[in-house]
Amino acid sequence: DLSHKVILYLEDITVSFDGFRALNKLSLAIDAGELRCIIGPNGAGKTTMMDVITGKTRPDEGSAFFGQTLDLTRMREPEIAHAGIGRKFQKPTVFEQHSVFENLELAMKADKRVRRSLFARLSSEEGDRIAAVLERIRLAGEADRQAGLLSHGQKQWLEIGMLLMQEPRLLLLDEPVAGMTDDETERTAELFVSLAGEHSLVVVEHDMAFVEALGGKVTVLHEGSVLAEGDLPTVQNDPRVIEVYLGR
Ligand code: ADP
Repeated sequence: DLSHKVILYLEDITVSFDGFRALNKLSLAIDAGELRCIIGPNGAGKTTMMDVITGKTRPDEGSAFFGQTLDLTRMREPEIAHAGIGRKFQKPTVFEQHSVFENLELAMKADKRVRRSLFARLSSEEGDRIAAVLERIRLAGEADRQAGLLSHGQKQWLEIGMLLMQEPRLLLLDEPVAGMTDDETERTAELFVSLAGEHSLVVVEHDMAFVEALGGKVTVLHEGSVLAEGDLPTVQNDPRVIEVYLGR
């Protein structure tokens, strides 16, 4: 039974690789507009969870719904992306030879809903959309700069901007601040907080200062299922979480 507030709903998802359960009855609900952090030790199943949501990996058991009706376990990767789930991997992938502006333009024109020729001239409305995203990712002053010349943090923001051009309802981000300076990390937290509400965000992250700055609910994965969930201070003080991180 799905509340209409829930945008992503995973229930009892199991994924096995040669008998090893990377996900073991994982259940998770993300509200529309929520900013959720997923933490957990290496091997906890965070990447596999993202792969299930995006259709890269099919679960052996369990269900995964996007919105009220879309059964992600029956959809292929491109259909899921088209339905409004955008994923960003850890390393930035931008078109290094092209300008910042052109990267956003290409991302918009590559959007299946738009189906614009890459050579078509931009309408003023499309130009405005790009300008708004440039503003949002703090690259308005770098619009004509070649993307390959940006700092690591700026490339990450540009790639997030490219995802935003396709107006995703849910953004999945894998360790977005890895390799960023403290200042870039702080700005990224501000960006994500500003995106929440309008978008839902699921962020896999190891940097606890960043998780704290995001301020949302935190889910701790361990051995393929949810070990704890709540605000950061609550999960950090949970004895089971402390044991998983420090124990053995
Ligand atoms: P995390 O992202 O939290 O570090 P992963 O989802 O990458 O965890 O991995 C969970 C477990 O599943 C790990 O033990 C990993 O070795 C295993 N695993 C992940 N993908 C595969 C695969 N394609 N084949 C075999 N084992 C895998």
